[in-house]
Amino acid sequence: MAMSLVLEKKGSLALRSIDAVPELTATDVRIAVRTVGICGSDVHYYTHGKIGPFVVEQPMVLGHEASGVVVEVGRDVTHLKVGDRVCMEPGIPNPTSRASKLGIYNVDPSVRFWATPPVHGCLTPEVVHPAAFTYVLPESVSFAEGAMVEPFAIGMQAASRARIQPGDIALVTGAGPIGMMTALAALAGGCAKVFVSDLAQPKLDIIGAYPGIETINIRNTSAATAIADATGGWGADVVFECSGAAPAILGLPQLARPGGAVVLVGMPVDPVPVDIVGLQAKELRIETVFRYANMYDRAIALIAAGKVDLKPLISATLPFADSIAAFDRAVEARDTDVKIQIEMPES
Ligand SMILES: [Zn+2]
Repeated sequence: MAMSLVLEKKGSLALRSIDAVPELTATDVRIAVRTVGICGSDVHYYTHGKIGPFVVEQPMVLGHEASGVVVEVGRDVTHLKVGDRVCMEPGIPNPTSRASKLGIYNVDPSVRFWATPPVHGCLTPEVVHPAAFTYVLPESVSFAEGAMVEPFAIGMQAASRARIQPGDIALVTGAGPIGMMTALAALAGGCAKVFVSDLAQPKLDIIGAYPGIETINIRNTSAATAIADATGGWGADVVFECSGAAPAILGLPQLARPGGAVVLVGMPVDPVPVDIVGLQAKELRIETVFRYANMYDRAIALIAAGKVDLKPLISATLPFADSIAAFDRAVEARDTDVKIQIEMPES
């Protein structure tokens, strides 16, 4: 049996065989996995053994950001064939649920998401996946970029929820991987300029290298002061909160312009105070984001069109055999690392 990266329990990873691949139904495809990105959630399950209500109670294969090659197609699959290069959307809703019927399948209570207990993830040589949630990668999009579509889709969801208008000025608070993805999606979505604030200069240097992005190191200047200076005291049209940090959330009303939008992307670990009256006094529109729905096609189209280049955000690529070392490096959370990827051996 083939080897998978298994989280045995909190703090314990193993490369071992595990019986994880389900049967191929008529509407599924079998995919040889090629590239998998390590996500903050994978790392959190490794270091804490749980995220909110999701607790690792039995060994679980990690990974949910993947690309690969189709090796077998179910009887009823028409849009994919053997040999297609693809990326996979890791959340599988019940297609007949009320949420799915409304087009908001990301908030379907019965969604099954890779590497969210008890569902196995994709750091394994082969996965079986619904064809409807498997997307062909154009020739110009690499497997590495294909595995970046998942985190980028969250930025796409945030940009869509913001209802950006051409020429908007946006601010992203927090330059983690999702903050960076959100900044690039906001720029591609029509913003004239996107400011990104953080404490860590190396992160700001990485995202600040993109044209159209300006950075604010909040060790030197508060985000409120920098945005006021940049907008003549008016504020940002859209503020994307991607830090999950309590002080940033409390300070949101000072950052947005009157009538602007605030999009909550970052997830605070505990409940945090919010300045309701500050939000009301500017009639700010509040949006929230949970994963994404119907974003993969758009994300792939932007990457293929050359309007979004995610390659500079891939900080390191390690072979599958070194995947425990890759996770231990991700745990270090170096300021110079954005995305670490794992490459599966070609079968
Ligand atoms: Zn992820």
